[in-house]
Amino acid sequence: MNPAIIGGGYAGMAAAVTLAAQHIPVTVFESARQLGGRARGVWQRDTQLDNGQHILLGCYHHTLNIIQQVGGNIERDFMRLPLQLTLYNRFELKAPRLPAPLHLLAGLLTAHGLSAGQRLKAVRFILALRRIKFRLAQDITVIELLRAHKQGELIRLLWEPICISALNTPVHKASAQVLLNVLRDSLNGTRADSDMLLPRLDFSALFPDRAAEYVKHHGGKVLTACAVEEIIPQGDEIELLTAQGAHRFSHVICAASPAAAARLFRPVPQLAPIAAQIEAIPYQPIYTVYLQYPQHVRLPHPMLGFDQCYTQWLFDKGQIAGQKGMIAAVISAEGIHQELEHEQLAQKVALELNEQLGISEVPLWHQVIAEKRATLSCEANISRPTHTTPLTNLLLAGDYIQGDYPSTLEGAVISGVRCAKELLTLI
Ligand SMILES: Cc1cc2nc3c(=O)[nH]c(=O)nc-3n(C[C@H](O)[C@H](O)[C@H](O)COP(=O)(O)OP(=O)(O)OC[C@H]3O[C@@H](n4cnc5c(N)ncnc54)[C@H](O)[C@@H]3O)c2cc1C
Repeated sequence: MNPAIIGGGYAGMAAAVTLAAQHIPVTVFESARQLGGRARGVWQRDTQLDNGQHILLGCYHHTLNIIQQVGGNIERDFMRLPLQLTLYNRFELKAPRLPAPLHLLAGLLTAHGLSAGQRLKAVRFILALRRIKFRLAQDITVIELLRAHKQGELIRLLWEPICISALNTPVHKASAQVLLNVLRDSLNGTRADSDMLLPRLDFSALFPDRAAEYVKHHGGKVLTACAVEEIIPQGDEIELLTAQGAHRFSHVICAASPAAAARLFRPVPQLAPIAAQIEAIPYQPIYTVYLQYPQHVRLPHPMLGFDQCYTQWLFDKGQIAGQKGMIAAVISAEGIHQELEHEQLAQKVALELNEQLGISEVPLWHQVIAEKRATLSCEANISRPTHTTPLTNLLLAGDYIQGDYPSTLEGAVISGVRCAKELLTLI
C-alpha cells in the first residue's frame, strides 16, 4: 500500500500519523508553504499568533491523544482552566471541585447573575437532557429546544455563548442534536472533560509540524507548497497531478478544505455528486482581533466574555502564553460586525475594553484576521458528506464530514483517524 493524503491540516496530518504509526509509507501533499490549514500559526510584527484564537475542550480525546503521540505534552502545551464561564459583570459560573456531573449542577446552582428560579431551570434542563441520554428523536434548532425547556433569559446568558463557541452557529440555525453531542461529552463526562484548554503554542507547532517530523521519521513524506491540481482514477490506482508532475498511489485520503475538495471532485464523473453536496454546505465566519497593548495591560481572567457587545470572548495571551499585553478578541458566527471595516472593528473592541474593564491605554498595534469560511454552519438537519466515495480507494476526511461533532479540531482529527484506520483494515 502506498497511500497519499491531500491536505496538511489537522484531519490530513491525523490520518498521516495514524498510517505512519503502522509503518505505511504515506505521502502528504499540502498546497500552502505551511501546515495547519485553518488552525495555523501566523507572524504579525515579530509576534507569533494564530490565524484565529482556538480553544480545546478536555473531552477532545482524539486531538489530545494524537498531539501526545507526536511528542506533545498537554499540561505543558496548554493552560488548563476548570469549567468556568464569565460574562464580565453580568454572569459567572464556576464549577467547584466535585465529581461530574455534580460539579456542573453545583456550578449552575451557585452561578452569579441568575435568579434562584433561573438556576433551577438550568439544572432541570440538564437533568432532562441526561434522562434522554442527550439524544433527540428528531433534530431541531437550538432555539426551539431551549424554548421548549423554558430557558428564557438563560438563553442569552448561558446557552447562546456556549452554542456559538461550540458550533460557531447562531442558536436560531444551530443543530440541537450536535450541541447535545458536545454537551454530552464535555459536561456529562468526567470533570476533566469539561476543562477548557488554552494553547501556549501556535497551532502549526502544536500538532502539524510535530506530525510532519513523526511521519518523516517513520518513512513518509510531507510535501508543502505542493498543491494537488487533479485527481485521475487509473484502474486500481489514483493519479494525483501537481505542478511538479504526476504521482500514482494505491489509495488517497482527500483532507483538503471543503471548497478545495469540491474543486478536485467536480471534473471526475463518479465524484461530481459529492462535489455538488459539498458546494451546498453553508459556512460561518470567525473574526479574531489582536490588540497589542503595553506590557503591563492584563485582563482579570485569562479568558472572559462580554454580554451584548461586539466582543464575545477575550483571551489574555500574556497570562496564557507569556505574550504580555497581547489581547485576542474573538467574534464567532455571522453578525453585524461583518458590516464594519477591520479598522472600525478594532476600534470598537478597544472601546469596549475601555468601557467594560477600564483599559484606557491605546493599543500599540492591532491586526484583524477574518476567516470568512472558518467552519461549516452547523445547522439542524444539514446534509454532510460521508467519508466514503464511489471510488473504493478514495476516502474523504475533514471537519465537515458527517459525524457527531461540529466543525472543530476534534471533528477533523476523528475523521482523519477514521479514514486511516479504514485503510489499515485493507492490509
Ligand atoms: C478563526 C478560527 C477559529 C477556530 N476556532 C476553533 C476552536 O476554538 N476550536 C476548535 O476545535 N476548532 C476551531 N476552529 C475550527 C478548526 O480550525 C477546523 O475545524 C479545523 O482546523 C479543520 O481542519 P481540517 O483538516 O478539516 O481542514 P483544513 O484546516 O481546512 O485543512 C485542509 C488543508 O488542505 C490544504 N489544501 C487545500 N487544497 C489543497 C490541494 N489542492 N492540494 C493540497 N492541499 C490542499 C489546505 O491548505 C489546508 O492546509 C476554528 C477555525 C477558525 C478558522
